[in-house]
Amino acid sequence: MKTIGVLTSGGDAPGMNAAIRAVVRSVIYHEREIVGIMRGYLGLINGEIIHMHLGSVADIIHRGGTILHTARCDEFLYPEGRAKAVKQIKKAGIDGLIVIGGDGSYRGALDLAKLGIPTIGVPGTIDNDIACTDATIGLDTAVNTVVDAINKVRDTATSHERVFIIEVMGRNRGDIALLAGIAGGAESILIPEVPLNIKSVAEKIERGRKRGKLHSIIILAEGVGSAIDVGKEITALTNLETRYAILGHIQRGGTPTAYDRMLASRLGAEAVELLLKGESAKAVGIEANKIVRYDIEYVLKQKKPIDLELVNLAGILAI
Ligand code: ADP
Repeated sequence: MKTIGVLTSGGDAPGMNAAIRAVVRSVIYHEREIVGIMRGYLGLINGEIIHMHLGSVADIIHRGGTILHTARCDEFLYPEGRAKAVKQIKKAGIDGLIVIGGDGSYRGALDLAKLGIPTIGVPGTIDNDIACTDATIGLDTAVNTVVDAINKVRDTATSHERVFIIEVMGRNRGDIALLAGIAGGAESILIPEVPLNIKSVAEKIERGRKRGKLHSIIILAEGVGSAIDVGKEITALTNLETRYAILGHIQRGGTPTAYDRMLASRLGAEAVELLLKGESAKAVGIEANKIVRYDIEYVLKQKKPIDLELVNLAGILAI
């Protein structure tokens, strides 16, 4: 293993840069060569490969996004595209590859491993939708961004005594909504994993009003529906005016939290260790604050259920 390549793929996430930095520095520490592949699998197919050194990752630990850029690449979904990628890997003399991305990127990493390229996956996505890890790189930053938004909305919601619906990312997963909703003290948290009962949301708002509550904040994961529609339904049921805020892509950017930087640093370094030990088709993760490794194939087959204890807690605290 003389030369290791690193790429970021799929949706970007704060902390990806810290992971790239950890990979680059660990490889150099072990006196091997490191190259960066621009734009994920797209750049790999096109041979966009750059030599990296210690200075390449200076001053990036605190930056959101990814200095290697990221892309989605349909060509890579087909054997011909993947064959082109393997050709470029061989041409560049890359002996092992580290893929930082979400579950789609993991599927690509597994395909490359099956084609004989030693490949390790690092979970980089704000969605937390990768199994066999308690958290993915970027989740904590996204949650903090949402909590910050909730704090701000709470001020105006209180002043105007209004019902606010805050729509957050999460098409299939409610992690961001659930964690930010609990930490931000939301009255209701609506996530795709729990069937929507709009009547009980409305009843809770009315109970709160009777107790003299000045505002209601509802956190809605986008997978449940749109904030506008949910707002209309609540108005129809309660006769109260609603306002909404759709946070959108601000959740994907910003300076990564200390937690995400730590996670990215640990996972990036571990990915390098695994390649140097001759491992392939493995994914790294964190469980109970310990770094873990699993077969990517196993990770992709596992379901990652939402934490029902947290769902329960949210219900208790927002009584
Ligand atoms: P994420 O990695 O964030 O889940 P995507 O699902 O868009 O993002 O995947 C990123 C890229 O990984 C895709 O553009 C594609 O090139 C590659 N990919 C996705 N799914 C597969 C698959 N089933 N087999 C091979 N490569 C895949």
